[in-house]
Amino acid sequence: MSYELPYTENAEGKFAVPCQIKLAQDCVQLGEFCESKADARHWVEEECWIFSGEGYLCERCHEQVMRNIAKLSTKKMN
Ligand SMILES: [Zn+2]
Repeated sequence: MSYELPYTENAEGKFAVPCQIKLAQDCVQLGEFCESKADARHWVEEECWIFSGEGYLCERCHEQVMRNIAKLSTKKMN
């Protein structure tokens, strides 16, 4: 149960969690850079990013995904 998330490291050796899908036009793209990976992950969880099992989706992309799913299910009904 120790899946390694993808982290982005900056020149100062700080870590941030990237948005996994970067789907929404107003996607946040990247969480805040923090001293440690654990802090970076904590930051995105505070921001209500959604854990997909492989990475985190920012709230905006999550909303976009939900809209896409809603559209698909509407199509199926017609
Ligand atoms: Zn995003």
